[in-house]
Amino acid sequence: MVTYQSSRGHERGVQASYAILKGIAADGGLYVPSEYPKFPNTIEKYAEYSYQDLAKEVLSLYLTDFTEQELEECVKNAYGDSFDTPLIAPTVKAGQYYFLELFHGPTYAFKDMALQILPELMKVAMKKQAIDKKVLILTATSGDTGKAAMEGFADVSDTAIMVYYPKDGVSFIQERQMTTQVGDNVDVIGIKGNFDDAQSGVKKLFSDPTFVKEMYDKGYLLSSANSINIGRLMPQIVYYVYAYVQLCKSGELSYGEKMDVVVPTGNFGNILAGYYAKKMGLPIGILLSASNENKVISDFMKERIYNKNREMHLTKSPSMDILVSSNLERLLYDIAGAEKVETYMDSLQREGKYEITQGEALAMQDFYGDYAKHEECEKVIAAFYEEHGYLMDTHTAVAVAVAEKWQKKNKTLIVSTASPYKFASAVLAALGEKEVPEDFHLAQKLYQKTGKQIPEAIAELKDKEVRFQKVIHPSEMKNSVYDFVENLSPREKRL
Ligand SMILES: *Cc1c(COP(=O)(O)O)cnc(C)c1O
Repeated sequence: MVTYQSSRGHERGVQASYAILKGIAADGGLYVPSEYPKFPNTIEKYAEYSYQDLAKEVLSLYLTDFTEQELEECVKNAYGDSFDTPLIAPTVKAGQYYFLELFHGPTYAFKDMALQILPELMKVAMKKQAIDKKVLILTATSGDTGKAAMEGFADVSDTAIMVYYPKDGVSFIQERQMTTQVGDNVDVIGIKGNFDDAQSGVKKLFSDPTFVKEMYDKGYLLSSANSINIGRLMPQIVYYVYAYVQLCKSGELSYGEKMDVVVPTGNFGNILAGYYAKKMGLPIGILLSASNENKVISDFMKERIYNKNREMHLTKSPSMDILVSSNLERLLYDIAGAEKVETYMDSLQREGKYEITQGEALAMQDFYGDYAKHEECEKVIAAFYEEHGYLMDTHTAVAVAVAEKWQKKNKTLIVSTASPYKFASAVLAALGEKEVPEDFHLAQKLYQKTGKQIPEAIAELKDKEVRFQKVIHPSEMKNSVYDFVENLSPREKRL
């Protein structure tokens, strides 16, 4: 039976439902599974499975205190009509690559793959742990998590959610998607700073025992919808398996043949789920982590030194503008153990960097890291559109640009993380249009240029009321939580 322990070693043997509710361990570490379960069936067998069936299978291996029935219900509620294709995560061939499209959910970025199911898992977890509190989700977002999390949690009873985003660090459409969010239990706040400021602000609140206790006494259990939550990580394993099986089914791969995956990386959550899939026995070759100009991970993979002491670049792939990639801690745990993780994280905290040993670097051979500059990404977007009629967003382009520089031995899966319409201005610029500030008419323009359907919820954005405009300094985050809780409508406040 899989249980969870902190990557920093001071908490062990907790159940999945507990880890999902807590989000982060008390010692500041991330929950990691006690083992990587093997698939109980052959990969061939999964050819008969729908996405939902496969999700249930994978989750049942990790969330061992959830019953079959509970998981069935969660999966059914999560992966249904809110996706615009019954396949949920289709794989499309363009040129020599296979694109695993993870942007067919309600907010058009891959975060939906996990955030459509997280609220369902949390509801069950609350029952299991007999929580008589309301769960208050605090989330830092580099642009996509915030919207996807609110879409999942809006008006879910006994939950409330606050989202912090870097005021000048997200695209126009991303910001508008968030600030027009409906629901009585949501709050959206811009931060004067970058994503790391927002993320470390949230982490600070979680690890402030006085604050946590105070909120508890007010009736709130703090939790996280960031990819540090295993309730987000585990559902992301599913689509790697699904993609592999689809490619086998269509004859592009033969069963057992290795496939390399390239993942546009920020917080290291998506690619880590691919690593977990590999650990479970999925024939993945190399996991290629693709960074934009914020190439901390790429440097780390090459030089063994993780160093966040550098300028943050605001790029055209803003969801990857991250210097502290939280989920890397889980990989470190695997290769170096809890004690070393604690030392490294302490060093990251104090000096902004750490260096792993040669032996530890060797243990990371499943991974390779590289990065691509903006110009390379623009070329890729234009070339794939012109040569293959395939339109991709700026994040996916980072992955393709990195893949182009990689000595390919195996078939290559590109993890495609967002709809091009979320980043219309940058995509149009890549297609040769003059760059103009983002506005609603750009979606129309991208449609006229490419004939690719505008996603409905993006087309509707311009008629929606902006409900949130607050911008604060990171030091005011704690007060913003007090304010929000104070002002929750009476209906929401009642337990
Ligand atoms: C969040 C995000 C990423 C980065 O994923 P991580 O799991 O944080 O590495 C890449 N692309 C898009 C569009 C995203 O929203």
